[in-house]
Amino acid sequence: MLAMQYRGPYRVRATQKAEPRIEHPNDAIVRVLRSCICGSDLHLYHGLVPDTRVGHTFGHEFVGVVERVGSSVRSLQPGDHVLVPFNIFCGTCYFCQKELFSNCHNVNPEATAVGGIFGYSHTAGGYDGGQAEYVRVPMADVGPMKIPADLSLDDAVLLTDACPTGYHAAEMGDIAEGDTVVVFGAGPVGLFAAKSAWLLGAGRVIVVDHVEYRLEFAQQWAQCEVVNFKDVKDMAEHLKGMTDWLGADVCIDAVGAEAVGNALQTLSGRYLKLQAGAATVLHWAINSARKGGKISVVGVYGPTGNMIPIGNVINKGLTLRGNQAAVKRHLPRLIEHVQAGRLKPSEVITHRFPLEEVADAYHVFSSKLDNCIKPVLIP
Ligand code: NAD
Ligand code: ZN
Ligand code: ZN
Repeated sequence: MLAMQYRGPYRVRATQKAEPRIEHPNDAIVRVLRSCICGSDLHLYHGLVPDTRVGHTFGHEFVGVVERVGSSVRSLQPGDHVLVPFNIFCGTCYFCQKELFSNCHNVNPEATAVGGIFGYSHTAGGYDGGQAEYVRVPMADVGPMKIPADLSLDDAVLLTDACPTGYHAAEMGDIAEGDTVVVFGAGPVGLFAAKSAWLLGAGRVIVVDHVEYRLEFAQQWAQCEVVNFKDVKDMAEHLKGMTDWLGADVCIDAVGAEAVGNALQTLSGRYLKLQAGAATVLHWAINSARKGGKISVVGVYGPTGNMIPIGNVINKGLTLRGNQAAVKRHLPRLIEHVQAGRLKPSEVITHRFPLEEVADAYHVFSSKLDNCIKPVLIP
């Protein structure tokens, strides 16, 4: 079959690979119909995630048709159209029972924190992902959900990660009616966090980025105020100035490692200085929050993550939360919003590429060419 394969930093290509087989009775094989590229894939593409092996197939945001199922699978049968959350989880362990599906203990026992994720290196279990014609889906009775008849494939594929992750970010921010919410990052995750902040009762939503076309999109699509951080000298002062010198009730980090990279570039590689406190999004978030405020982190930090100004977290009495999204927990509510017309996830899709052109797709998304927000691969 044709599949995206990693060759090394900034090098991916679509080549032939053996089709996946049923390896366990609870596996399903899914023929992929749509597969997105995510900001998290860029961390792999940029070589920031350890143990990303040559030949690994990325892709944790996909929908498709069930082709075959293992002998113990009861809830799916060949021909079913499914959306598959990016988390692989067992549904029964201590953490799954608490609906912490992204922290499942059974699918990636070697890891201390994260559970299994499709196509996300051997640190997340080494499972091949869905940027391919076929993908093996373990725990097939647990994660996948049949796509309701009135949900389009384009909306469904955004419900495998970006949209629920944005919602998860807003939910972790514990937004109260009328709150001022600042979202760092106007990528798909940040955009959905902004939309979700409104759905959860925010009174004001401010989005920060430096890519002008994404800020324009945030302004128009999510009706947010926007700040281009290139125009701002001191982020915390600027945001306080916008909020009667109080700061934001809730700050959401939807950027993660990329900002560490930017800070490093700014300092031309003077790494020690970065550790002494260059401004990453986490610094901005902690310093821009009002006293008693909340910080929600869904941006992913690899080992490049830097020192957090933890003293300020304590002195300001902040609540700091983070997690990989528990996608399945949010699906019923989000599907309700989509069906009621309050949310149309597919509106963030800007590009479609045949799987053969996966290298171009990564390049365009990574370099923010051609006003790209969310690219979809079509096998
Ligand atoms: P993306 O790369 O499309 O968007 C990131 C945006 O952040 C870009 O528009 C970039 O210009 C902007 N940015 C860079 N530095 C910034 C800074 N200092 N301040 C403000 N904005 C800045 O990625 P995405 O798909 O939207 O994902 C965003 C983050 O969420 C990534 O770290 C990704 O790994 C993470 N993520 C987490 C989960 C989870 O479950 N926790 C799931 C999906 C994605
Ligand atoms: Zn993703
Ligand atoms: Zn589990």
